[in-house]
Amino acid sequence: MSNPSLLILAGDGIGPEVMAEVRRIIDWYGEKRDMPFDVSEGLVGGCSYDAHGTPLTDETMARAQEVDAVLLGAVGGPQYDDLDFSVKPERGLLRLRKEMDLYANLRPAQCFDALADFSSLKRDVVAGLDIMIVRELTSGIYFGEPRGIIQEGNERVGINTQRYTESEIERVARSAFELARRRGNKVCSMEKANVMESGVLWREVVQRIGDTEYPDVELSHMYADAGAMQLCRWPKQFDVIVTDNLFGDLLSDAAAMLTGSLGMLPSASLGAPMDNGRPKALYEPVHGSAPDIAGQGKANPIACVLSFAMALRYSFDKGAEADRLEQAVEKVLADGLRTADLLGEEGATPVSTSGMGDAILAALEASL
Ligand code: NAD
Repeated sequence: MSNPSLLILAGDGIGPEVMAEVRRIIDWYGEKRDMPFDVSEGLVGGCSYDAHGTPLTDETMARAQEVDAVLLGAVGGPQYDDLDFSVKPERGLLRLRKEMDLYANLRPAQCFDALADFSSLKRDVVAGLDIMIVRELTSGIYFGEPRGIIQEGNERVGINTQRYTESEIERVARSAFELARRRGNKVCSMEKANVMESGVLWREVVQRIGDTEYPDVELSHMYADAGAMQLCRWPKQFDVIVTDNLFGDLLSDAAAMLTGSLGMLPSASLGAPMDNGRPKALYEPVHGSAPDIAGQGKANPIACVLSFAMALRYSFDKGAEADRLEQAVEKVLADGLRTADLLGEEGATPVSTSGMGDAILAALEASL
């Protein structure tokens, strides 16, 4: 059998810096855990525009469709701000998401004990938090028709349409149930069935998929506004939350901030299962290319490292190895090592991007 394949698109700004640390971790898994990956690299974003006049070439797009998972750094930078919209760095990322049809966006909110004081909530509310928000990414009010600003009599009207088909709800619900089976086995679905017909259908369809295909997973429903309150009041009550594009946009940002710094947040976007049963998948840190600190060895590589941990768990069925990597990150943070974005406490040891990579590798080595 061939090795699992991974396409690395490091991108712009701090993307290549944080990805360099992940490359060392991938090599470590190949050597020390007998898990060799077939790694290829490509360009995306501004660096692709500089080399080829487009933020993503057809060749790179085709390779992304073939591999088991894509790992992306970040795209963008001020030098590309004046480019035509059609060739802006972000268009490369949008093309990947669209052509791979990545309809389920996974945003974990995980709070490492050592960083609980960075949250704006009380320590006991967030310490040890580990929840996953699954946001529907390719439909809903951001895409529904009709849309626009029209003239009606003597005033203008702004219109957007919330629209979901049953099959769109079914597939994202399945993604959430599958994830729950690999985690705490609980799904909470959030909508506004009290005031929106699309919410009524959402609730019905999620319940049907739960009853017929995932009776072993505990399913509950909550109105999204109540869900927002509960996320701030006692987030640890949740395991997997599944919700639509608009509510997911808001709830995942709110949940992310429960945990502290942008440099810590991984994400995944998953599509339909391929022939080998694995979902199409793109893993990336939530942060951007951070041009203000690029090239200075200040970037926190942990968001990108944790994105690779998600790939191990969700694309390669290596949950125990993902745990090993997350525990290595936890150990390094508990030891007080901090990149610049996490400094502030007394007694912390400042480290560079590669210093953080060294420490995570040492913790991995110690885990053997
Ligand atoms: P940003 O996420 O790049 O940076 C916001 C702030 O957080 C900056 O002060 C930055 O230094 C800090 N930061 C971000 N990641 C960090 C890390 N790993 N370690 C330490 N500090 C970190 O957002 P921005 O400044 O709004 O955008 C910069 C560029 O990135 C823009 O061109 C934007 O379009 C692009 N962007 C790309 C993505 C993506 O590739 N998915 C996402 C957001 C923004």
